[in-house]
Amino acid sequence: MTIKKIQYNIMVWLLMMGVNVAANQPLPDARPLIVTSIKPLAIIAKSAVGDAAQVQYLLPGNQSPHDFALPISALKKMSKADLVIWIGPDFEAGSTKAMSKLSINKLLTVIDLPHTQPDQGNLRQHDEYLMEADPHLWLNPNNGNKIADAIQVRLGLPAKEIISDQQIARFKAELASFKEVTYLTHHEAYDHFADAFDLKPGLAIRNASGGVQGAKTQYRLRKTIEKNDVSCVFIEPQYQGKDAAIIAAEYDLPLVQLDPQGLSQRLSEHAYSEFIGTLVSQFKACFQ
Ligand SMILES: [Zn+2]
Repeated sequence: MTIKKIQYNIMVWLLMMGVNVAANQPLPDARPLIVTSIKPLAIIAKSAVGDAAQVQYLLPGNQSPHDFALPISALKKMSKADLVIWIGPDFEAGSTKAMSKLSINKLLTVIDLPHTQPDQGNLRQHDEYLMEADPHLWLNPNNGNKIADAIQVRLGLPAKEIISDQQIARFKAELASFKEVTYLTHHEAYDHFADAFDLKPGLAIRNASGGVQGAKTQYRLRKTIEKNDVSCVFIEPQYQGKDAAIIAAEYDLPLVQLDPQGLSQRLSEHAYSEFIGTLVSQFKACFQ
């Protein structure tokens, strides 16, 4: 029997089995599918698994994760996923109901993993309450490695760090001369980054959930700006940045773009270290 004849017979057999063998139909991707709520978790997942799994994320670039409700298309993606990763209920309140319906084997809740928290001294005192720990924990590279490790364990992949101690040390050295710099951020999202790179925690216009601060906190913020030499005001692409622009104009401070969601970061095996490197450059752009 010729090879052509064998191929023909296999094709007929596959067709009889109901398998679609049309030549122009791409084969379905057989790799496991990881779906993450926000892009930073996709950056970590892609860096952790490389080509061993497909990685997709749900949050569109122009949205804040703090007030995002999952559309039907997102629920469909989640139902197809082998592993769904999110930060947790306080961070993504709008996704809590959908996430709670997933089987525990399929869901990875990052806030429940052992992770590094900024020093107690960094916890912020608000008018109303003592702020819970900052949930933007992907901004500390040690946490990035811990999340990556949990993903690799779930998928049965060999352990591999997504950012090395040497890379972290190099970034620390780049920021070493800015330990005392005062800066203003759009919302309280950078305690983990500041802690990891020995910076002062930034002054923030909005709270850790992106909400407007109480009147007393706003008053205190203005007093602090007047007393300190503030380097810049950071604005984030997914927020309109109106309140940041008003304060920047009022105190004649430069506006600098900061992208904690990695919106312009390409998903690749090196995505996480590139993402942290971009943030380091954006901080330096404010300080210099
Ligand atoms: Zn945030």
